[in-house]
Amino acid sequence: MEKIQMTTPLVEMDGDEMTRVLWKQIKDELLLPYIDLKTEYYDLGLPEREKTRDQVTVDSAEATKKYGVAVKCATITPNAQRVEEYKLSEMWKSPNGTIRAILDGTVFRAPIMVRGISPVVKTWKKPITIARHAYGDVYKCTEYRVPSPGKAELVFTGADGKEEFRQTIYDFECGGVLQGQYNKDSSIASFARSCFQYAIDTRQDLWFATKDTISKKYDHTFKDIFQEIFDSEYKARFDELGIEYFYTLIDDAVARVIRSEGGFIWACKNYDGDVMSDMVSTAFGSLAMMTSVLVSPDGKYEYEAAHGTVTRHYYKYLKGEETSTNPVATLFAWTGALRKRGELDGIAALGQFADKLEQATIDTIEGGTMTRDLVGLWEGETPARGVTSLEFIRAIKANLEKRL
Ligand code: NAP
Ligand code: MG
Repeated sequence: MEKIQMTTPLVEMDGDEMTRVLWKQIKDELLLPYIDLKTEYYDLGLPEREKTRDQVTVDSAEATKKYGVAVKCATITPNAQRVEEYKLSEMWKSPNGTIRAILDGTVFRAPIMVRGISPVVKTWKKPITIARHAYGDVYKCTEYRVPSPGKAELVFTGADGKEEFRQTIYDFECGGVLQGQYNKDSSIASFARSCFQYAIDTRQDLWFATKDTISKKYDHTFKDIFQEIFDSEYKARFDELGIEYFYTLIDDAVARVIRSEGGFIWACKNYDGDVMSDMVSTAFGSLAMMTSVLVSPDGKYEYEAAHGTVTRHYYKYLKGEETSTNPVATLFAWTGALRKRGELDGIAALGQFADKLEQATIDTIEGGTMTRDLVGLWEGETPARGVTSLEFIRAIKANLEKRL
């Protein structure tokens, strides 16, 4: 078979620990034999970030702006223990945070579903994709522990120094707590555009919810910005594709999500997304089966697995043990990126290959061969066979060859 040719490179962001090992196995076994893989390689592994004083992370994000599509391996976010372990000169920031800030993107997380591993919620037949607005609100708030009676006020002073607004929040007759939150129109608008864009890309309905009945200025602004951008920029395209933008109250949304069949994108404010994404991903089964894509408002894409570098398995691997780490989410990051690259460059063969590779992966699990993290979740008829990562990847390869 002739290898599939590419025209534009993918931005390849290598990473750390166990996922770095899987990264190479996936490329060697499942990609390089079939694709004349063109990538612009950035090593985001912690040693290289230290060596370049994290410049490599910034460069990889800039390359994503240039080429439009990236695929990223999980990376270590340094903490005090990692500074020690890797002898770092600084506690470098989270690469995901840096990349997200440069691309101004929104993260969409979606579960990979297979027959034999069913969601806790029995009505869910299709994936539910969660988009979290990862800016502002309680994550960037100012708080005060009120010690004694006194008056709390909300004050806004214009850039010209003139007081524009002052209102009493509460006249404290005793101690208490205070919190000041903010968000920006520009950030809310970017979030909205990324969500509408991704709904169009994936041809799914978009749901959005806030508590605008209670929060008549703050949350209502989110609702208004979404609606204005939808009406003026996206409504026509949504109508053409037969998809819907649906706004409701957050408590109503939660109830509807539980009763739904899935198959839509749920856009969440920052805190709702933090909480709901953990609930939804757990209910779908396993973090190892969750993909993630960062989408910028101007349509740049960075694909990755939602999980981390699986440190515990890596320490076993370093001792020479074969591990059974699940490569599915990392593999689907590659297929997602290849499919998008094919779409943008008009190379149908890339998209077809991505489809076949994903199907071969699903076939393998549905046939009873899987990594050990999935064995406990398995409810299929054939008994589950728990295998090592490499055995699993080779089983996928055998199924892929049948489809090529
Ligand atoms: P993690 O790497 O996601 O792993 C946590 C546990 O979840 C693992 O020990 C394992 O459980 C299970 N698990 C996760 N992915 C799996 C897979 N593919 N196959 C099988 N089991 C899997 O989270 P962490 O241990 O909290 O973080 C490790 C490092 O990853 C940290 O340095 C963190 O900074 C980084 N991280 C990076 C990203 C990213 O780059 N996007 C995201 C999160 C964390 P068992 O041990 O029970 O088998
Ligand atoms: Mg959370």
